[in-house]
Amino acid sequence: MNLLEAMSAEGHEQIVHFSDPGSALKCVVAIHSTALGPAIGGLRMWTYAQEADAERAALESSRAMTYKTALAGLNLGGGKAVIIGDPEKDKSEALLRAFGRFINSLGRRFIVTDDVGTTVDDMDCIREETAHVLGVHPVHGGSGDPSSFTALGTLHGIRACLERRFGHAEIARASYAVQGVGGVGYHLVQLLRAAGAKVFVADINQERVEQVVDETRTEAVPMHQIYDVDATVFAPCAMGGVINEDTVPRLRCQIVAGGASNQLESNECATELEQRGILYAPDYAINAGGLMNLAVELEGYSDERARHRVSSIGRIMRRIFERARGDSITSWQAADRLAEERLLAVGQIRR
Ligand code: NAD
Repeated sequence: MNLLEAMSAEGHEQIVHFSDPGSALKCVVAIHSTALGPAIGGLRMWTYAQEADAERAALESSRAMTYKTALAGLNLGGGKAVIIGDPEKDKSEALLRAFGRFINSLGRRFIVTDDVGTTVDDMDCIREETAHVLGVHPVHGGSGDPSSFTALGTLHGIRACLERRFGHAEIARASYAVQGVGGVGYHLVQLLRAAGAKVFVADINQERVEQVVDETRTEAVPMHQIYDVDATVFAPCAMGGVINEDTVPRLRCQIVAGGASNQLESNECATELEQRGILYAPDYAINAGGLMNLAVELEGYSDERARHRVSSIGRIMRRIFERARGDSITSWQAADRLAEERLLAVGQIRR
């Protein structure tokens, strides 16, 4: 499929290629939708073997972002920027500033933030050339580390899951198996422990596990056994694809609700979870707290407003579950349907 066909198949508005030979910048920006507002997207810097791989990554991620912002109730669309290069070797002030000038030339159609291979310092550098950047340092009005807000949103989502499954929203009346105790997982464990819950943790980094267990008085589980833990909630907070045909039959939980992105290896896994009586919190709905926090920068950042906005994740999750029941569909399908309906009501999207 050529590029224009791929764009048209998924309803993308625009894809732009930028090149600046002076700084060796080679970059792709995909804008999936601006129906709700300017497209927001992370800037990934990565050594793609072929330009087409970078284009595909930008197209896929920008579409996913459209759904995430729509469901989160934000007035932002979906985009993605990719710089082809090694962040360790190829990144320079000249390259980032050239990127910033190109983003500026798009007007306010695209707002950039950090992602794999880029940092808050890089956003500060880009800010020298354009105002269309979020995730800058707090001294410049930035919102700081998003992971604690992603964890807070996940906690609100877990409460909605408990309510749906057991008719109560009391964190302490359930137990939790948290996979990955990096930024999001660690903050989630802290919140769960503060509420008085029993928590099991696993991480590929043993030193990290020991630190977290010492600090939060949780129980460590060998990395590969986290799926088998007899806990009420399994909370993936590490990498994607962890809900797959090997792991679903092993799960002993009643709820899967965590902050990791792209948890399902395929959409069929959502159906399999449901068939096994396990309630699934769609990842892009429950992990939107960091994005909501970031969006508050647009109005002038305030921690209080960010917390208030993030609390809406509980309401969003309840709407998803109601819709899933009403339409006899999976929670995953219900989330997509709600996002598409908002987009259709305001602008355009191809199904
Ligand atoms: P992080 O790198 O800080 O933490 C990830 C943790 O997972 C690390 O401690 C790592 O050692 C561990 N890990 C890696 N592979 C593992 C494995 N196989 N088994 C167990 N543990 C493993 O990342 P993060 O910012 O906490 O993000 C975690 C997940 O949440 C990612 O999927 C990310 O896309 C998603 N997410 C994060 C945010 C955010 O605000 N940071 C927002 C939305 C989604």
